[in-house]
Amino acid sequence: MTDNKNDKAKRKRPIIQFIKCPSCGYGTSTVSYGEAPQKSCPNCKTAMEPIAVPKVNRGPIPKIDPQTCTGCSKCMHVCPMGAIEMDNQKAFIVEDRCVGCGRCVPVCSFTAITRPQ
Ligand code: SF4
Ligand code: SF4
Repeated sequence: MTDNKNDKAKRKRPIIQFIKCPSCGYGTSTVSYGEAPQKSCPNCKTAMEPIAVPKVNRGPIPKIDPQTCTGCSKCMHVCPMGAIEMDNQKAFIVEDRCVGCGRCVPVCSFTAITRPQ
């Protein structure tokens, strides 16, 4: 029997990969929501290879105050990890995906996002 809710969550889970050119060594990271994108190296045009990268926390996970959040979704668009989702027009952080980069904090015009020191 299929668990529709779980399947949906799996589809939404982003794949974060480091892509490295085997020829010239150029590297970049990419976030996708399905199959890993085929990429060729912007430097030398060789096909680039995805490399598994460990999740690294760079800082504390921010908090979003649902009372202050207006649901404008600006924070969702800047999160490189796809870690911010909306529920009932309120943003929330999926902590498993957040790497604590802090990009979402300054974009909130309503100061609804704070980061513990
Ligand atoms: S940017 Fe601020 S107000 Fe807008 S959705 Fe995110 S937390 Fe809510
Ligand atoms: S701290 Fe970074 S990874 Fe975490 S929710 Fe904000 S933008 Fe996304």
